[in-house]
This record gives sequence, C-alpha cells and structure tokens, in this order.
Amino acid sequence: MQNIDIPVEKFVPIQPRALQRLHKLNIKTARDLLYHLPRRYEDYSNIKKISGLYEGEMATIQGTLTKISGRRAWGRRMIIIEGELEDETGTIPLLWFNQHHLLKTLNAGQRISISGKINHGKKGLYFQHPEYEILLQSETENNSNLRNTGRLVPIYPETHGITSRWLRFLIQKALEKIPESLDDPIPAFVKKKENIPSLHDALQKIHFPKTNHDITEAQKRFYFEELLFLQLKKRQTIALRRQKHAPRIIVDRMYEKKIITSLPFTLTGDQKKCIADITADLEKDRPMNRLLNGDVGSGKTIIAALSALLSIKNGFQVLFMAPTEILACQHFETITRLFKNEGIAVALLTSSEKRLVSPFGNFSKKTELTTFTKDGTAELIIGTHALLQGGYHFKNIGLVIIDEQHRFGVEQRATLLEKKPNETIPHLLSMTATPIPRTLALTIYGDLDISTIRELPVGRKKIITKIVRPARRTAAYQFIECELQKGRQAFVICPRIELPEENTSRTIAELLREEIKSVKKEYEKLSKEIFPHRKIAMLHGKMAPKEKKLIMQNFSAKDRSVFGREDAVIDILVSTSVVEVGVDIPNAVIMMIESAEKFGLASLHQFRGRVGRGEHQSYCLLFPSSENHEWNERLKAVATSEDGFSLAEKDLKIRGPGNLVGFEQSGFHAPLQQALCDVELVEKTARYAEKIFMEDPELSKYPLLSERLLRVHYTLHAE
Ligand code: ADP
Ligand code: MG
Repeated sequence: MQNIDIPVEKFVPIQPRALQRLHKLNIKTARDLLYHLPRRYEDYSNIKKISGLYEGEMATIQGTLTKISGRRAWGRRMIIIEGELEDETGTIPLLWFNQHHLLKTLNAGQRISISGKINHGKKGLYFQHPEYEILLQSETENNSNLRNTGRLVPIYPETHGITSRWLRFLIQKALEKIPESLDDPIPAFVKKKENIPSLHDALQKIHFPKTNHDITEAQKRFYFEELLFLQLKKRQTIALRRQKHAPRIIVDRMYEKKIITSLPFTLTGDQKKCIADITADLEKDRPMNRLLNGDVGSGKTIIAALSALLSIKNGFQVLFMAPTEILACQHFETITRLFKNEGIAVALLTSSEKRLVSPFGNFSKKTELTTFTKDGTAELIIGTHALLQGGYHFKNIGLVIIDEQHRFGVEQRATLLEKKPNETIPHLLSMTATPIPRTLALTIYGDLDISTIRELPVGRKKIITKIVRPARRTAAYQFIECELQKGRQAFVICPRIELPEENTSRTIAELLREEIKSVKKEYEKLSKEIFPHRKIAMLHGKMAPKEKKLIMQNFSAKDRSVFGREDAVIDILVSTSVVEVGVDIPNAVIMMIESAEKFGLASLHQFRGRVGRGEHQSYCLLFPSSENHEWNERLKAVATSEDGFSLAEKDLKIRGPGNLVGFEQSGFHAPLQQALCDVELVEKTARYAEKIFMEDPELSKYPLLSERLLRVHYTLHAE
C-alpha cells in the first residue's frame, strides 16, 4: 500500500530549488501535493477546427506548428513570440509575450495542441497567450493524456516560480503512483451510505476532471472529509477537557458586590450576565473554556478585570494576555488605575517593558520579576504572548485570560493548556470582538461555551458613518479640521496592499514595504498640504515597540493630560491597517479610512470601534478609492448598520463565511471555508461525527481517521 504521508520529494522527483518553492506553498508531503486542490478550472474542452472559430470563444485547436520566431519590441524590453498553427481547414497566428523559453520548447513542424481565447486583431483572428502542449504520435488520436489543453484544466493557488502548468505536471506524476486502494480516512460505512467516491477516484476527478459533474462530486467529498474532521476534532477536544481538573475559585460575593458598586460606571445587563456565567464556571472543578464575544466597545475589559480580581482575592495568580504590546500596556494602566485601592500586585511583562506595581513598592528588574512571578508575589500578570516564551514560572495560575483571542495561534493556546489528562489546568477566558453568527460560532468554536454582550454601555452616542465620494474630499478635510479645533483627535487608516491572487513575483516583505510607503506618503501629504499646522504622527508594523508605545502615549495624552505638554500631543494618527485592535482613546472621534472598499465588513467595523468611546459625537468616514459602484453594497451595509452581529450576518450572506473569519490550517489542506457555507453538509457531518464518537470514542476502529486527526489543527483569526 502506498503511503502518501512521506516527503514529497520521495514520491515524485523534484529539484531542490523547486522543492523550496513547494514548501512555500506549504507542500511538504505527497499528501500535501495531492490535496493542493484547484482554485478553479479553465474549460478548454471545446476542440474545434480553425475555419470554425469565432471571436471571443474559448477553444482548442490541434494541428502543426508551421512557424515560430521571436522579436524584441517596446524599446527591446519585451520579447514577442509569434507562431502559426495550421490544420486541414486553415491557419491562425499565435502570440506570446516574454516567453523566451518557448523558442527552445517549440519547433516548427511539431504537432501541438493550443488552447485559449480567440482574439480579433487587425489581421483577423489569433490566439494571445494560449496554453500549449506538444502532442505525441499516439495523442493525436487519443486525447486522454492531455494535461494543459483540450480539457477542463485545473488552475491552482500559485506562488513565485510555481505555475499551475508545473503543478499539473507534478500532480499528474503523483496521481499515476497512487493505487486504487489508497488509504481513505473516511469510514467505509459513511462512504457507502453517502455515495462518496473513493479517495483515489476523488483525487483523479478533482485534478483532472472529465466533466463538471466530476468536479462537484469530488469537491463534495473533500468538503465532507474536512467537515467530518472538524466535527470529530471538536468532540475530541471536549472529551479531553472533561478529563481535566481545574482549581475551584470560590468568589466572595460580598466583595464582588462592593467592587462593582465602586466602579466609575454601572455595568450593563449583559456585562452582569457574563460575570455571572464566569463566576459560576470558576467555582466548578472542571476547567472553564469560555469565549466572551462582544462587539467593539461593549466593555469586555472590565469583565476580564473583575474575573481576575475575584480569582486573585481567592488566592490565585491570573495571566492576562493581549495580542500586542500597546494593548498589554493599556490593560495594565486601566487595571492598575481601576483597582489601585484593592491592594493587588500587578505585573506588566512585554519584551520591551517589565514592571510590577504592588502595595509594597514598584519593581522593574527582570530578575526581581522572575522571582515574583515564581513565588506568587505577582498576582496579576499582564503581557503579550512573550509571556509564554520569557522563561517565567508561576506559582498557582487559576485563570488565564486571552484578549482578542482570534489573534492567537493554536500553538500558543496549546502551550498554556495542553497538559496530561487528569492534571489540573487553569480556567480559560477568551475574548473576541469578531462578531460571529451563533450557528457558525458553534461549528467553529464548538468546544467553547459562549457569553455574548450585545448591549452597549448606556449613553454611548451613535457613531455617524458616511461614505465620502472623491468629489467631497476637501469638504471632509474641513469637517475634520473643525473637530480638531474643538480639541478632538482623528485616526487615518491607509489602504491595505492586497496580495495578488496568483503568480506573485513580489514577496510579502515587499508588499509590507509598500504598505509602509503608502503610510509615509499619506503622512507627508496630510502634514505638508492638508493640515500643516497640526501635529501628525504615523504608526506601522515595522516600527520598534518602544517607538510605537511612545506615539500611542502621546496620542492618548490629550485625553488623560498625563504629560500636560501641548507639543507632545498628537492630533492625527496615520496608521496601516494593523492599527491596534482594542485601543481605547475616548477623545478620538474621527476614524477616516482610505480605500475603504478594500477592507472586509468586519475590519471596517473594528476600525469604527476605535472611536465613539467617550462622551463626544464620533464619525467614521469611509473614503472609497474611486467612483466605482461595486463597493456600494458593502460600504452601505457598514454605513447603515451599527451592530457588529447583524453586519456579520450580512457579510455572511454577501461573501460567505470564509471571508468573515479566516482560517489557518496546519496539517490540513482543502478549502474548509467553502465547506462551511454548506449548512446541510455541516449538519450531516455533525451527525456522523456524533455516531462515530459515541460508539467508539477512542476511534480504535478507525486508525486512519484517528491518525489524521492528530495532524489537524484549527486556528481562527479575523480577516
Ligand atoms: P471592548 O469590549 O472593545 O474591549 P473596552 O473594554 O475597551 O471595550 O471598553 C470600552 C470603553 O467603555 C472603555 O473606556 C470602558 O471604560 C467603557 N465601559 C465599559 N463598560 C462600561 C459601562 N457599563 N458603562 C460605561 N462605560 C463602560
Ligand atoms: Mg478590548
């Protein structure tokens, strides 16, 4: 039996350089290669004679190449390859640009097959940039071996130096080596009942389909497989968690009441309900695994802070992790201020800053802090994920809180929680502002309990969202100036540079550089031309943490008048789309987003959530990059809806779940996102998973399935 979980280079011959590139596509094993599923197909199955061609159609012609030559054009910068194809009914010109290698691959007199769109030029019909294939003697009669022309041709996710054409070649080689009886993780009884093709057949059909029906049949199989894994994994995780213990954290109700009344605001009903959910969980000896799902600005931090305080008062340490240093600092400052009379020792541990504020003094040496985390002196420890790699030890962690949990990888969560069964692990509270419709949340986050905050704190003013057409730009700047005069502040978000879908000759680093360039450009423009008298700063991912922090401090200074130095105060913050999720600056009332149509609804809503946090009327200004009307539907949805949950539902309808929540999969291949769109399939696989799991929780009857599940991990992240 052929094992496909072996390095891909042991399966098919590959040059070392090509192998490196395959690794970039995350193709490491033969299975990875075989599961590198087409993104779409080009239909070249319309095989015709030259005399019957017409403009605009997609066609394949098989005939003799009568001429081929190259010449330089455009001041020698481009090479044009010209050829001519002949069949018994006529001839047609072929045209390629910058494909020098064709002069070596193709020779006049050869029989070839050509596929592509028929163009019409000055001299009549011709093929521009067609796919080609050299026909062997036998293939002129029988087209079954055609790979790039004359059939439904797969188009794959590509990367620099890896074309679909080469992938087709490689995958065809791999497919030749897999036996009919290839190991299939889907249990036989399921396949039979659902009429699912074998893995061998499905792979043939998905890569080299004969008909469109082959494609749908094979896709359904791969969707089924992915969803079944997801469902089983979820059940495994739940079962594993049930075997574990957690410390019981008994909440002092009198103290809880006292502290809640002493807060500077009254908690909303939803906030109270969430705290009740959490404290009930903490008192059990099974680990809590709760997701706090609340819209931006709904007040999740205070819930986290209260849960932490109550756990600490019961004698436990609490870890509070944020995705960025800026957020960690912000939480540290909020909490130390909020609970300054509660006598707790709070530590901030990030890669650039380490300190402990406690009733018995402040400390900032790493050695001191290492001791204090270990001996339990530090009670609340706030930081980024660097906390987990910093070589710290803790005495008795009762609760772990993860803010913006979708930003954390599964590995990091695993470091915290995956210990042996029967061991005692801390309670876990994760928080996210990514509004996920409940049905979807249950599928994806199925192993979590969910508490939702839908209600915003009272007195919050509605944020006014406007789409600003290019012609109104100057007026919008005047409006912003008016707000700045009142002492308010503004965010400007620069366009995201999109990753081109295929054939990227540019690396991500290059794109990042470009994104930073666009921030610098916008910064120059605003500070020189539009608001020369204003203090403007920029923020982007390449800046050192210290530098970022200073800017954020100066930006929030106006609000808190901590520094009291007018010259340090920033009016406008120009930032890349990485603008820190969760930053809380109530004095900022304008969120201006350039090229707004390039962002998803969830991102736009997140950005908008950066304003409207204080007493002042706030505005979100969406600047589309052109007068184009394609963006209308989505931008209008944002402009007319304030509620993240209903927006998420709209996004789900407009674009499907894949864009609402992105998936990163490791050890996992095909497009799970698409599968998640199919509610019926989601439910069906849930039933099978339940049946399999109830009858055989160890999956001992299904070793293949159990082995595959070990390799599958799911991580969620927002777009
Ligand atoms: P998010 O849920 O996005 O993390 P935060 O926790 O940052 O939101 O809260 C946003 C702002 O609302 C903070 O300034 C916080 O102090 C304030 N806030 C939280 N709860 C309430 C409440 N019940 N009433 C008034 N303001 C509140
Ligand atoms: Mg937050």
